Amino acid sequence: VSAIPALAVHGGSGAIRREDMSPAREAACTQGLLDALAAGRRVLEAADGRALDAVIAAVRVLEDCEEFNAGRGAVLNSDGVAELDAAVMDGPTRSAGAVAAVTTVRNPVLLALEVMRSTPHVMLVGAGADRIAAELGLDIVDNEWFVTDTRRREHAENGGGTVGAVAVDASGAVAAATSTGGMTGQHAGRVGDTPIIGAGTWADDQVAISGTGHGELFIRAAVAHEIAARVRLTGESLAAAAEAALAGAGALGGFGGLIAVNAEGDLALPFNSDGMFRGSWAAGDEPVTAIYR
Ligand code: ASP
Repeated sequence: VSAIPALAVHGGSGAIRREDMSPAREAACTQGLLDALAAGRRVLEAADGRALDAVIAAVRVLEDCEEFNAGRGAVLNSDGVAELDAAVMDGPTRSAGAVAAVTTVRNPVLLALEVMRSTPHVMLVGAGADRIAAELGLDIVDNEWFVTDTRRREHAENGGGTVGAVAVDASGAVAAATSTGGMTGQHAGRVGDTPIIGAGTWADDQVAISGTGHGELFIRAAVAHEIAARVRLTGESLAAAAEAALAGAGALGGFGGLIAVNAEGDLALPFNSDGMFRGSWAAGDEPVTAIYR
């Protein structure tokens, strides 16, 4: 069954196994997903609530949640620095904004939104992006603020942690947003699929996608755009297109998963890793979350 409005969130994919997970972390992650769903749902249930605002609200909650590898609690690169990437895309207008390798903006997804709204650009990186965050009056923090010791160890052990949201609002408009600290120990300056429009994040007039996984392979398989193209060109269901695009990354050796929604309110949350932190809600239903296979 599909219904609109609807919303899905993820908190990353990877070697997430029940036997490795402490009950406390399991509960904290589940609560983070529920909080994000509640934030997005609040937007979507308001009069004229927009999918774009819902995905921003949901991802912002997940960035602030220490359990996930985005915003506070992000993994560190080879220099011991949190370098953050985020993107947002609005389906009806095909507007997009992205930032990569930012180190001081508290909520990278809000900066991605500003890049979309307040500049003529789609992507800003590094020092220039951090500078515009300050100029625009976004919350700026010391890089140490992102770093939480225990989380860093747990990310390394349990994998995953990138966050994302996709939503369809009552008008049938869709949007996607994704945010990450990248992969543990990545080379300074490395950028994965998350902020690459068409790889880790995509929205158009029909579908919205947010990915998580081995970013290099998601880029090389153009996973998010592949789903949109399959839906548009082959008439495949959202679920079939999502499975096929993920298999494309898998064939290159890529683990991961994604969340996808279409204008009718169909949701797909496939993954080929051990687990994926995920949750969804649709009008008339209660929110649901899951972690393992
Ligand atoms: N896709 C992210 C990246 O490659 C990492 C992840 O989803 O775990 O940066």
